[in-house]
Amino acid sequence: MAKTLPPGSKLWLLNLGYLDVDASALITGANVWAPHLPPQEHDRRELVMIAGLIHHPDVGLILFDSGSCEDVIANWEPHLNECTPRVWDKSTHGLAEAIAATGAGTIRDVKAVVLSHLHNDHAGGLEQFIDSDVEIWCHEEELKYAFWACATGIDRDLYVPHYLQPDRFNWKTFNRESFEIWSGITLHHTPGHTLGSITMELMLQESGSVVMTGDLFHVKENWEDGKPQGSLMRDFAAWHRSWDYVKHLVNTKKGKVLLGHEQSYFKQFPISPKYLA
Ligand SMILES: [Zn+2]
Repeated sequence: MAKTLPPGSKLWLLNLGYLDVDASALITGANVWAPHLPPQEHDRRELVMIAGLIHHPDVGLILFDSGSCEDVIANWEPHLNECTPRVWDKSTHGLAEAIAATGAGTIRDVKAVVLSHLHNDHAGGLEQFIDSDVEIWCHEEELKYAFWACATGIDRDLYVPHYLQPDRFNWKTFNRESFEIWSGITLHHTPGHTLGSITMELMLQESGSVVMTGDLFHVKENWEDGKPQGSLMRDFAAWHRSWDYVKHLVNTKKGKVLLGHEQSYFKQFPISPKYLA
């Protein structure tokens, strides 16, 4: 039986800006039309970049995902900036600014970071923790794949070297299907979108189970209809197994679900400076 987070724990959800993305990356079959049809309207999605900030009395502040780096022009591939433009205002979407706006502390008070996976729109904010002793947690498979992808140039669009440096971060990994990392916080290995993607489950005292899926589900069609991802999918069979696993988790715990980038789900939660307890 999973423990709850200790009394006094809080969860803030942070809006770290938006990405304008072609739906074919997110949903299998999107923007594919029968050849006899006239040109159809192209489906694009405005994806919100989300982070969670947790105050855990035993640990201090814990960050789940970190959004993009600040300077995407310098650090992202040019065609990615052209085809997946970011809409971002540092005064509200900057990681340090968004954390400060919660009233829980500053970015220097963060004691640990947990990353759903190491893509550039979730792990780019790690640049704020270079050369610090803040623990940076992810699944072992994700760390291995990200460094391999970066070193070989395979999947180089999505894994960027400026935050994938072996000796400038305090990297920590786990390698289990499920791992209670701190009291009331469980990490589940849910591969598919990437090999080492994880889902974070919080068991809050008042709000109950909150399940943050990361990019296992980018948008509601992935989660609700079981439509697998498009060009951003890395393991089709694993994705379907993970979908079943998370459905079971949510059904048995009656969890509130937060998808990786779906705005309509994000808006159902209290948004920082409001919080869940
Ligand atoms: Zn991703």
